[in-house]
Amino acid sequence: MTHIYNFSAGPAVLPKEVLTRAAAEMLDWHGSGMSVMEMSHRGPEFISIYKAAERDLRELLAVPDNYKILFMQGGGLSQNALIPLNLVGHKPQPATIDFIHTGSWSGKSIKEAGKYASVNIAATGKTGVPPVAEWKLTPDAAYLHMCTNETIDGVEFAFENGVPAGLAGVPDEVLLVADMSSHILSRPIDVSKFGLIFAGAQKNIGPAGVTIVIVREDLLGKALPVCPSAFDFKLVADNESMYNTPPTYGIYIAGLVFQWLKQQGGVAAMEQRAIAKAELLYAAFDADDFYQTRVEKPYRSRMNVPFYLKDESKNEAFLAGAKARGLLQLKGHKSVGGMRASIYNAMPIEGVQALVDYLNEFAGR
Ligand SMILES: *Cc1c(COP(=O)(O)O)cnc(C)c1O
Repeated sequence: MTHIYNFSAGPAVLPKEVLTRAAAEMLDWHGSGMSVMEMSHRGPEFISIYKAAERDLRELLAVPDNYKILFMQGGGLSQNALIPLNLVGHKPQPATIDFIHTGSWSGKSIKEAGKYASVNIAATGKTGVPPVAEWKLTPDAAYLHMCTNETIDGVEFAFENGVPAGLAGVPDEVLLVADMSSHILSRPIDVSKFGLIFAGAQKNIGPAGVTIVIVREDLLGKALPVCPSAFDFKLVADNESMYNTPPTYGIYIAGLVFQWLKQQGGVAAMEQRAIAKAELLYAAFDADDFYQTRVEKPYRSRMNVPFYLKDESKNEAFLAGAKARGLLQLKGHKSVGGMRASIYNAMPIEGVQALVDYLNEFAGR
C-alpha cells in the first residue's frame, strides 16, 4: 500500500489501528454475522456499541453527570441553527446572542443565528483572540458563542484550567456555547464551565455524518415551537440519540476512536503530543521568512496550521513536491489561499517530521 500522510482539515486522517479493526469487523461484527451498517439501531448489538461510545467519550472528557451527550446528524453548520432554536427560548423573545468573532466558522455561526435572534458581536479578532476585558457582552444575552479553534484561520483560544484564558473575567451567569469541531479531544477541558459544546466528527473524531453535542440538562426543554422535532435536544436526549435513526456506522467508528484514545493515554496524552507536533512544525516556519504564518503566537492552533510561501509563485511546485513525497492535502482553504497542515490526534509525529523535512528541503535549508 502507498504510504502517505494526510494533512486534510476534514474529513481527516483516522488512526490506522481503528481502520484496520473496522476492516476486520466489516462483514461480521463480533460473531453477529452482520456488518454494523446492517444492524437495527434498536437491537442489542448496536445499543451496546452506542453505550460504549457514550461512556468512553464521557470518560475521556470527564463529562459531568448533569450533562447529556447527543450523537446527532447535520454537521457543525446545522448546529448554528439548532443551538439558537433550542436555547433562545430561555429568554424573552427576541433574545440576543453574543459572539466572539475570530474567523470563518464563528462568522458562519453569526450569520445563521441572525435568523433566530438578535446578534451582538462582542469582540472581533483576525489573528488572535481579543482579551476578555474588551468583550462587550450584552446583559441577559441567551448565551455567548465562541469557536475555540478556527479551522480555516488557525486561531485557537489559549486555555487555562480547561477553559478559555481570562474567562474568570466573565460573569458566572453567562452561558458559554463552544464550537470545538476541530480541536475536541486534543486537550483536557472543564465541561462544567460550558452550557453546550458541539463538534462535527469529521475533524478529530471520526467520519463525517456524526455531530456530538454535550449539553447541560437544565438547558433542555425550551426549544422554540418551530424547531424540528428530530433536532429538539430534549427529544434527542430523552431517546438516547435514537428519536430517529442515528448515523450508526459513524457512531461505531467514533467509538473505536474513543477506545484508541483511551489506549493512548486519553486527552492529557493527546495534548502532550499536540504540543510536540505543533512546536516542531511552527519552528520550521519561524526559522526564516521563506514561509509565513499570520496568527499571533499565543493563539496559534495546535491542530490547523495555515502557512504561506513568501513567494507564492512557488505554490504549485510546493504542492507537487509534497505530493510526490506522499504529503497530501496541504492546499489551503480557498477563502484564504496558501497552505494548511492539519495535524489532528491521528497524525503521528513521524508525519509532522516528514513534512518538516520537506519544508526545509524546499526552502533550500
Ligand atoms: C468543519 C467545521 C464546521 C462545519 O462542519 P460541517 O459538518 O461541514 O457542517 C463547523 N465548525 C468548525 C470549527 C469546523 O471546523
